[in-house]
This record gives sequence, C-alpha cells and structure tokens, in this order.
Amino acid sequence: SFSADVVPQAPEDPLFGLMAAYRRDTDPNKVDLGIGAYRDNNAKPWVLPVVKKADEILRNDPNLNHEYLPIAGLADFTSASQKLVLGADSPAIKEKRVTSLQTISGTGAVHLGALFLSKFYRPNQQRTVYFSDPTWPNHFQIFSNVQLPYLTYPYFDKETRGLDFDGFINTLNNAAEGSIIVLHACAHNPTGVDPTQEQWKEIAKVIKERKLFPFFDTAYQGFASGDLARDGWAIRYFVEQGFELVIAQSYAKNFGLYGERAGCFHFVTSPTSDADSVTARVASQLAILQRSEISNPPAYGARIASTVLNNPELFAEWEANLREMSGRIIAMRKALRSKLEELGTPGTWNHITDQIGMFSFTGLTEKQVLKLREDSHIYMTKNGRISMAGLNTHNIDYFAKAVDKAVR
Ligand code: PLP
Repeated sequence: SFSADVVPQAPEDPLFGLMAAYRRDTDPNKVDLGIGAYRDNNAKPWVLPVVKKADEILRNDPNLNHEYLPIAGLADFTSASQKLVLGADSPAIKEKRVTSLQTISGTGAVHLGALFLSKFYRPNQQRTVYFSDPTWPNHFQIFSNVQLPYLTYPYFDKETRGLDFDGFINTLNNAAEGSIIVLHACAHNPTGVDPTQEQWKEIAKVIKERKLFPFFDTAYQGFASGDLARDGWAIRYFVEQGFELVIAQSYAKNFGLYGERAGCFHFVTSPTSDADSVTARVASQLAILQRSEISNPPAYGARIASTVLNNPELFAEWEANLREMSGRIIAMRKALRSKLEELGTPGTWNHITDQIGMFSFTGLTEKQVLKLREDSHIYMTKNGRISMAGLNTHNIDYFAKAVDKAVR
C-alpha cells in the first residue's frame, strides 16, 4: 500500500529560490541578475509597445471568444512561426516537410519533442541525448522524465571563457550513431557563447557524417543580435543541408510573453522522404501526444504573436522593439567591460562583450557570487551567470565596484 510518507523532499528549483531570496531582501540597492527576463533601464518588466497594440486590436475584436483552440493550436500562429524560424522562402515549407504544433512556450516544445522521440526515435536501439556542458538545467529534467538517457559534450572553455570547439567536435565524432544532439540555436544559455558560422558548418558536417540527430532549442531569436535572420542562421543552414531535425521555439523573450506560454514545436522531415505521407503520419502522432498532455494549447499569447507576425507593419515595429532590447543589453555589456577595465579589476573582461544574448558567464566563482550576495545584495546564480538585462545605467557602477571588490 502507498503512503505519502514515502515521498522524499525535493530540492527547491535553484533559480526560483534565488528569486524568492531577492524579493525578501529589503536593501534599497539590491540588484537582481538571476532570472532570464528582460528589464528596462529602470529594472522594470517591459511590455513591448507592439504587444500593447496587438492587445488593443484583440480586445476590440467583437468576434473574439474563449473557445478551445484546435489540438495543434492556432493555425495562423504555427504557420507564421514556421516562416519566422525557417525563413519565409524555406524549401522545407514549400515542400510541405514541416509539421508544427503550438506548445506551452519553449519548455512545452522541448517536452513534446522529447516525448515524441522517446516513443518513435530508434526504438530498441541505443539513443543517447547529448547536451552542452553547461546547458539550461531544465533540459536534464525534461529528457529524464521521458526516460531518454543523456551525456554532455564539452562547450565552455573556462580558460578563454569562449567555446571549447575542439572538445565539442571531438565528442560529436565519438558519439554513438543516432545520438540526439541538443543545440542552442543562438544566445546559448547560460554561457552567452555561440559558435561562429564557420564553426556551425563544421558541426553540421560532423553531425551528418556521424548520422546524429539535431534537436534545436531556440529561445532568443531576434533577442540576441536584434536581427531575426542572423539569430536564425544556424537552423536555416542545417535545413539547407537537408537534415531531418526538430525545433523547440519560444516566444517568451523575443515577445516578452513569458507568462503567456506561447511556443511552437516543429518537425522538419528530410527532403528525400515522401513528404506528404511522412509529415502527415508525424503530425497524427504528435496530435495524439498533445491531446493526452495538454489537450490543446492556451490561446492568448499565440493570438498576440500571430497578430504581429501576420501584419507587415506590426512586424516591422516588433523588429524595432527587438533592436531596442538587444541594443540596451549590448550597451550594458560595453559599459560593464569598460568599467571593470577602468577599475583595473584583476582578470580579463573581453568575454563580457564577446558573449551574446540575455546572459553572461562572468567567470566569478561560487565564493565570489555568495560574497556579492552577502555584502552587496547582488543576486546571480552560483555558476557566475548574470542576466545582462538586470543591469542598467543606475546600477552598473554599483555592480562593477562590487565585482571589483569581490575579485580582489
Ligand atoms: N530553452 C532555453 C535554452 C531557455 O533559455 C529557455 C528559457 O529560459 C527555454 C528553453 C524555455 O523557456 P520558456 O518555457 O519560458 O519559453
């Protein structure tokens, strides 16, 4: 017989625990560099102006109701999502090789992909999933929950605070045939380190040679560089190379729709497949999985994104909003690096401006991180990752001086 007595205590989620500690802190100078959510220059959440406009349009629509969406979600949203991630003129879209389902943001898309692969990918054969070391910690939990075993590939070079490209390639070269390789499409979380386009080409070559399966996680398209095509380059290159692959897409960061849970999962079948038949079969199985997991996805966030993505004027305005967010973050990177260099803070700080996207892997040790929390009320994860969006013109001096003190 079962008694709830047997249930052990689980550890608190480190990131959400950090947020709670920050909220409890009453110091007026406290700085939150933990959670990966955009903040404006006054450390406030930012509702994108284009999202406000879309909201207005939706609220004034007399036909809007609260009916269920279809199992695969809002069709206007999923088709616009395909174009966004693959490019409007993608051959994969033209050849009808893409199956897409709206999901519970990026997390739900990673989960649906993992669940699908656990059921249909090389059943009864070895199928190891490879994550970058380090990666977004939820990857481990999501794939473990569907009983897929995982390993990691080297990614971050502690010496250079850049990419350990040789380690990465070497591990891919030695991975068992058919292994699933989870790749961050851009703005790698937590390191902010991305391969160059030349390095991506090399990665694609080895993945093809070794018959590995690419699983792209894209949570920062447009948010990283301010340029949707540039941030989408790696995925589009892989599709061009004829890979069969999957993509988990999040709209949390690039639309600021965090809590609305708008995302999309895409399965791209290979150009040599009988596209119509394979795509339809994949779609039918994904629909069954979706039905049993969430029945159908939430409507509001997808309606907002769809309104913007399908209207050229609003789309252009969204791109301007993206440039504003990414531009502010890039400006903070430059300011932080130059302040640390001015202070003569021991170490090198070029990695702050070399890295891209929401996060910087500072190289601060766990001890220094805890000292910053205790002495200066600055909150970041223990691995020394900072959310760049938490920095602004009001707190950057304070932060740089505190880092300088903690490092000495
Ligand atoms: N994947 C990566 C690499 C992320 O950094 C995130 C968010 O932090 C996600 C996926 C999914 O986030 P969400 O479920 O909020 O879209």
